[in-house]
Amino acid sequence: MAEAVDWRKRHLDALREMESEERRWRGVEQILRRLVSRVCAVAMGRDPRLDAQLNTLSAAARRNADEAELKALFDSLTGVVMAVEKSAAITSPITPPAPTTPPQPSVAQSPSPVAAPVAASAPAVGRWQSSCEAVALLIERLGQADPSGSELGPLRSDLAAVADDAALAMVLLRVSDLVSRHVAVVTRERAEAVATLAQVTDRLSEMAQYLSGASAERERDHEDRQTLNIDLLAQMTRLSDEVKSHDDLSMLRVLVTDRLDAVANNVRDFREREQHRFAENAARSERMLSRLAALENESRELHRDLDLEKQRSRIDTLTRVANRVSFDERFAEELARWNRFRHPVAILVWDIDRFKSINDACGHRGGDAVLREVAVALSRGRRGVDFFARFGGEEFVSLLVGTELEDALRAAEEMRCAVEGLRFHFHGSPVRVTVSCGLTALREGDTADTVFDRADAALYKAKNSGRNVCIAV
Ligand code: GH3
Ligand code: MG
Ligand code: MG
Repeated sequence: MAEAVDWRKRHLDALREMESEERRWRGVEQILRRLVSRVCAVAMGRDPRLDAQLNTLSAAARRNADEAELKALFDSLTGVVMAVEKSAAITSPITPPAPTTPPQPSVAQSPSPVAAPVAASAPAVGRWQSSCEAVALLIERLGQADPSGSELGPLRSDLAAVADDAALAMVLLRVSDLVSRHVAVVTRERAEAVATLAQVTDRLSEMAQYLSGASAERERDHEDRQTLNIDLLAQMTRLSDEVKSHDDLSMLRVLVTDRLDAVANNVRDFREREQHRFAENAARSERMLSRLAALENESRELHRDLDLEKQRSRIDTLTRVANRVSFDERFAEELARWNRFRHPVAILVWDIDRFKSINDACGHRGGDAVLREVAVALSRGRRGVDFFARFGGEEFVSLLVGTELEDALRAAEEMRCAVEGLRFHFHGSPVRVTVSCGLTALREGDTADTVFDRADAALYKAKNSGRNVCIAV
């Protein structure tokens, strides 16, 4: 029972936690909606076609329009922006606001409900810039929605390269997608926890009913026995008194027979009631046992689901290799082991060379396909004790356990060559894909940060020395 209560408490705690997370994410979603309004206001005044579209989008964001409607509006906005840019290019080219312009008042303040037309003047540029900064802030606050960083990494770099409203709107759309997906996950998890809690509560009240039923039964049994004892005693006392007061032998025989009949009846009735109680008890125990077996099954399934969920949260969805969360955990373990046993451990940090131009040439989907293949090539041939993960974006990391730096460099060279040997084509033309690697070994006094900084510095050297090389430090 104590375990069951503990279960219930844990579920209630988890539920409360999820509720507060859900509230937090609703807050982030609201900021996003206000941000969309603000970005619309800033972009006003360039073209009447654009203004109409921006007004509709801003109104939709403020009245909490759903994801599908917002997406459709973003899409048509992108179309209008392209049409406007095209006609502007024919007449006079639009100069996008310089990203280095000093920031103006933050967009976190409440947005102006009606957008006033603004020319591409200095204050407008400032507001545009502060919109970008607010989006950057928002992306930083989304860490929990993407623990592996595989979506936030590209968002950050794409935001840094944003040069016009259409590009900013696309970044915002992806941020809002990420938020909605996360809110959906939190809502689903909460619904599941509520359902589980309801089930557990039902089972607990069933068990409580069974136990109180059983104890009432014991009480009745006890009372019945006492009544029988009292009855028997009374019959015996009466019989003894009657025997003393009667001399007539035949009369006495009748009296004794009557008393004995009465006693036999009492005992028989008692036995019948006892048998009935016994049968009821057996049926109730049977029901309870099957309930308990079902509960045990459910709890086993729940544990399996939780394990699966835990495993899934440690796998990168794009490449199916371990993700950053998983790496952080494993790296901490290896550091602790190294501090105790001093078995060599090498860390290899990988970065795909000029991946941006691969994306530009083959599109984002093409880039994703390259990421998947590179992950396979870099993880192939690892030993069981080694570890490989996607660190984020186009960066990967390997841990070679029990390997000295010199051997690790040889292994890294083999992996680098394996990637170089991959044959990619886009629309029939070959696409060259190479990787650079910075590697180092755990040393006395190292922390996770110092090891990583060293490997990163080695990677930086590899990039500066022409890429497609491995450098050990
Ligand atoms: P360098 O050789 O110096 O590493 O150049 P680079 O172009 O690889 O480096 P940079 O950091 O400038 O660009 C990395 C690019 O990787 C930018 C980002 O959009 C892209 N990227 C990150 N994550 C993903 C992803 O999941 N899929 C795709 N397709 N692209 C991604
Ligand atoms: Mg990189
Ligand atoms: Mg790169």
